Amino acid sequence: MDYEYTRKNYFKEAGKEELKAMFDYAEGYKEFLFTSKTERGASATAKKLCEERGYKPYMFGDKVKAGDKLYFVNRDKNIFIIRIGTNDIAKHGFKIMAAHVDSPRLDLKPNPLYEESGVAYFKTHYYGGIKKYQWPTIALALEGVVVLRGGKRVHVNVGDDEKDPVFYITDLLPHLSQEQNELKLGKAISGESLNAIVGALPEGSEDKDAVKAAVLKLLHDKYGMTEIDFQTSELCFVPAGKPRDVGFDRAFISAYGHDDKVCAYPEMTALFEGNGKDTVMAIFADKEETGSDGVTGMQSRVILDLMDCISRSLGADPVIVRYNSKCISADVCAAYDPEYSSVFEKRNVSYISCGASVTKYHGARGKASTNDASAEMVGYVRDALEDEGVVYQTGELGRIDIGGGGTVAKFIANLGIDTLDMGVPVLSMHAPYEVISKADLYSMHRAMLAFVNKQ
Ligand code: MN
Ligand code: MN
Repeated sequence: MDYEYTRKNYFKEAGKEELKAMFDYAEGYKEFLFTSKTERGASATAKKLCEERGYKPYMFGDKVKAGDKLYFVNRDKNIFIIRIGTNDIAKHGFKIMAAHVDSPRLDLKPNPLYEESGVAYFKTHYYGGIKKYQWPTIALALEGVVVLRGGKRVHVNVGDDEKDPVFYITDLLPHLSQEQNELKLGKAISGESLNAIVGALPEGSEDKDAVKAAVLKLLHDKYGMTEIDFQTSELCFVPAGKPRDVGFDRAFISAYGHDDKVCAYPEMTALFEGNGKDTVMAIFADKEETGSDGVTGMQSRVILDLMDCISRSLGADPVIVRYNSKCISADVCAAYDPEYSSVFEKRNVSYISCGASVTKYHGARGKASTNDASAEMVGYVRDALEDEGVVYQTGELGRIDIGGGGTVAKFIANLGIDTLDMGVPVLSMHAPYEVISKADLYSMHRAMLAFVNKQ
């Protein structure tokens, strides 16, 4: 009998075959991630994967039955994937996994285009929590949708194909940075200075704003849009390029948007592979990075309406179904970083490669605004994980009173559904390129599978 608890490194625990499975699984994730930089991209990619597996679109009011494989896309920015189980849904509820698929980025302002000193720029308004100094001098891609007069939608994706141009925000040369260097890190680069170069070729004339005019002409030729159409668009700059392996041994992955696609992908694969009897729902939510508000965020009623409609269709009282449901709020956590050890509490932080991490509570100061899952709910998930031999760990975000954060957990818990946070530890969270471990990614997949299959 081992009385002591010790955290395990999953790479050390895994045999040869499991290591191979980890690395194979990571390839599928990298492919998913590359086309899922925004919530629209992730929802579209997930929808495609659902359709390849015979999942059918669901609409409120549809009749459902055991064995049905369904998806519901909410306004192209938020997808729910649902497998109807054979268990009595009133008694067993839904097994829900909720991750978010929006990531910090630079949205375009409604009137973004201007010209200054012979260069055309787009003005941006940052989305989510970013460290502004990280965004200049990297290659950026432009993604999103433009709604033209009359409702026609045009999709934009420039910068991810190697033949594409990229966009670029400048920084000051060190030779002239004496004053900038004296500024606090959070003040050195202002939000209003995050303007990206989008063109420099004037169109023939010597008129003022000849470059701006030329950029507008290019946009019109390619997308049929005029300047006012920016006001009916959702365009954003995201870091350009593909996910890349990190290290000689390729143990880690560096990419944009691990938070939170690194949890969204495992919940989807677990739903696809799962063979439990419960009804399972995987959610890709939008707007988590700005507070989960809005029609596609986790505070929207859409989740309730979906659960209610499905419950009623199966002849169950939605109130009882909800009360008996369980949810894993699948979101990333901070990985211990020895370079910044002072912000972590070493005994209660998550370590890279030690598996997906269970987080009982988030919040700030005295656990303000936290879900704080019950011991019983943590116990339920622990049993599921241990029964399947999943290598996992437990941790909190950082040292007490140093900051704080939250996930979608409390919004689902507030509906009366037992909810527990669990996710992949991330290094450099919210940076343009974040880092995760292939061991933790695979642990998350196995953890979600254990959860949905548990009887
Ligand atoms: Mn997150
Ligand atoms: Mn985040």
